[in-house]
Amino acid sequence: MANTLYDALFAPLAGRASDLMILPDGRRISGDAFLRLVARQAHSLRAAGLTAGDRIAAQVGKSPEALAAYGAAVALGAVFLPLNPAYTPDEVDYFLGNATPRIFLCDGERAEALAPVAARHGARLITLNADGSGDLRQLSKGQPESIEPAERSPEDLAALLYTSGTTGRSKGAMLSHRNLLSNTEVLADLWRFTDGDVLIHALPIFHTHGLFVASNIVLLTGGAMIFMPGFDPEAILRLMPQATAMMGVPTFYTRLLSDARLTRELTAGMRLFISGSAPLLAETHQEFERRTGHRILERYGMTETNMSTSNPYDGERRAGTVGFPLPGVELRIMADGREAAPGEVGVIEVRGPNVFQGYWQMPEKTAEELRPDGFFITGDLATRDAEGYVHIVGRAKDLVISGGFNVYPKEVELLLDEVPGVLESAVIGVPHPDFGEAVLAVLVPRPGVGLDAQVVLAAVAGRLARFKQPKAAVVVPELPRNTMGKVQKNLLRETYAGWFA
Ligand code: AMP
Repeated sequence: MANTLYDALFAPLAGRASDLMILPDGRRISGDAFLRLVARQAHSLRAAGLTAGDRIAAQVGKSPEALAAYGAAVALGAVFLPLNPAYTPDEVDYFLGNATPRIFLCDGERAEALAPVAARHGARLITLNADGSGDLRQLSKGQPESIEPAERSPEDLAALLYTSGTTGRSKGAMLSHRNLLSNTEVLADLWRFTDGDVLIHALPIFHTHGLFVASNIVLLTGGAMIFMPGFDPEAILRLMPQATAMMGVPTFYTRLLSDARLTRELTAGMRLFISGSAPLLAETHQEFERRTGHRILERYGMTETNMSTSNPYDGERRAGTVGFPLPGVELRIMADGREAAPGEVGVIEVRGPNVFQGYWQMPEKTAEELRPDGFFITGDLATRDAEGYVHIVGRAKDLVISGGFNVYPKEVELLLDEVPGVLESAVIGVPHPDFGEAVLAVLVPRPGVGLDAQVVLAAVAGRLARFKQPKAAVVVPELPRNTMGKVQKNLLRETYAGWFA
């Protein structure tokens, strides 16, 4: 029977003796062995009651078994719902209540705390530990090693991915087989992935980047991945000579740059470094090129849209930009109900086979963000330059409106970052009695530098209109970031809400 995603990503692994996964401890898993694991798990999950259309939630550590659970869900036609292991039982309660999965996979260590939560929402709890042990392994023992996949059309749902939800409750983005496969095919082609590639996979697999962009591309193209439980610079530096490509969030690159072992020689066998999920500073891009000779390829996407833009593989990879819309993806930048002129800031809207099907059981939220003509309002502010490169200037909700004027944080942050001694910065709006909101700069000094906030403010004052100038600056050792490397401006706004009170 046809199953869009299974047929493209998993079925071709049958009989494949070459490696699919290389683990940091040296273990290797062939494509065929992985597919047999997927089949055993699928049989055991089916026996536990999972059928086509059911949701299966997984709050588990990253392991080959955890990725196999995604494959097993796809094989059964179920909807895979990965959850960040950092979520607390209260948060999990919300997700299980909203998605009502049939099965909930979780780490054995948390089973006691989460059992009542699963029971409350009618989900069967099955343990899967980070080392692959647990109930699921036991249930899978002796199960058949092949499976006839459930029939699934391109329109059927394959995954439910909750948005990170820094404001309001997180929403479940419904992703169809077509959404996932079309994006994987386009990216694999654009970035020239082949069965000769070995990808350094150090991203979490509860998020689009690691689960869909990284894993799906390798599955589709028949290559291998060095599958790491987390970001471990030691392991990456050690294993890089075996690899050809890496996908990372910007913090991977800044962390690698801080290690003297990152050199041209070490990266000589690499053909591609990709960055996304958060803005890569132009400085990081340039420094990486100086050190390694490689120009990092930056791309842009989100939970609801998979990937939407990418810098070119062959053409100029322009630092500080996210490149062009992907083939098949329409992108427009809207300002005041019309398309923005080149250089003008507006909100990115995208349409294409990559765009999700709506928010799970939230028709009103879906209607707010997904236009009837199929364009999704991303909430990201951007401009397009004369050559068509898209420059992201921040999230619409991070826009500062001071005295009635719009301040785009990125514009101010770029100037602050140029001041000697500043490593990076975050510009936020905080309540102000006169201006409504005032611009506040949060500064991180370079290692070993004693930064004087007033000196930094004076350095940028002459280069910014008065309303854009930060009214105050604070110096902090580091910016709060989530696991995907995104600066959590909502936390900064909370921390400094009373600054001008
Ligand atoms: P998520 O849904 O968690 O993947 O977050 C998606 C958001 O991350 C986007 O809406 C952007 O705000 C941000 N993002 C992703 N990639 C980039 C990038 N290359 N540059 C700037 N922001 C990015």
